[in-house]
Amino acid sequence: MGVKGFSKDLLKGKVAVVTGGGTGIGKVIAEDLAAHGAKVALLSRNLDRLEEEAAAIRKTGAEAAAFACDVSDADQVKAAAEAVAAKFGRVDILINNAAANFIWPTEKLTSVRWRKVIDIVLNGSFNCTLEFGKRMLAQKDGRIVSILATYAWTGGPGFAPSASAKAGVLALTRTLGAEWASRGVLVNAIAPGPIDTPQTRERLWPTAEMELKMLSGVPLGRFGLETDVSALVLFLVSDLGRNITGECVTSDGGQYLGKGALDMLGNLEVVRRAKKAGAKSA
Ligand code: NAP
Repeated sequence: MGVKGFSKDLLKGKVAVVTGGGTGIGKVIAEDLAAHGAKVALLSRNLDRLEEEAAAIRKTGAEAAAFACDVSDADQVKAAAEAVAAKFGRVDILINNAAANFIWPTEKLTSVRWRKVIDIVLNGSFNCTLEFGKRMLAQKDGRIVSILATYAWTGGPGFAPSASAKAGVLALTRTLGAEWASRGVLVNAIAPGPIDTPQTRERLWPTAEMELKMLSGVPLGRFGLETDVSALVLFLVSDLGRNITGECVTSDGGQYLGKGALDMLGNLEVVRRAKKAGAKSA
């Protein structure tokens, strides 16, 4: 797999950091960045898994290296940023993709679980944006893309910590989109809808019934692919995206709009029935 249609030299000479680059969407983003000329640095906690992925990327002829880093720890992020700079000399692209989630009734959440998600998603994105962003500001050139979810602005029952954290990252994206634009650093986000990965199949729709229920909320009637996200990443971090900053691009098969549209159809049906009943009683 992998994104087709962009020039293989799209990101030639660029250095890209991908947090959570050893699994799921982050893994495919890292592979696509490398397949389009970038040298990639993979950051997450599980170094063995990252080393495996970096080795797989190097087998394709691209440059890749793995760095153990818990993004919620500012000191570890600082050390990783120094290690990446020592290895590759500079950083041009940061993808804030690492995340954790607990899908749980909010009234049963503990503050420990709340903080865990906020620390990884919101504080982790901030830590990485700050450390790698400072280097980009110094070189007056850089691209930052954070991977969000549409519940950052719709909210999502059971997703309180993640929705709140992603909403914070969206606010950070818009703020820095304006604050850093004149200094050459463009800051954007992508909000994927449900993406078919081994993890989502196991955690979000483990049964055929749940899969069907999820799909019924997607107007396009299919789950997204990891490459639907990585194609947008390639666009935003390359020269193609030179005029876009502070933006969040949604790739969800119409899921979040579809809910409104479906509700409206339901509402119209209620209105039609009420009118019919009114006509009868008049
Ligand atoms: P995933 O496979 O569960 O990957 C999460 C990654 O984050 C893992 O590689 C993990 O690696 C890393 N990570 C977790 N905690 C970390 C920490 N403290 N420090 C550094 N790395 C950490 O997730 P995914 O489904 O591919 O999702 C990727 C992104 O897309 C997330 O931001 C998610 O919210 C977003 N998203 C996904 C979907 C979907 O349907 N999959 C939909 C909307 C949005 P380690 O365990 O090695 O640290």
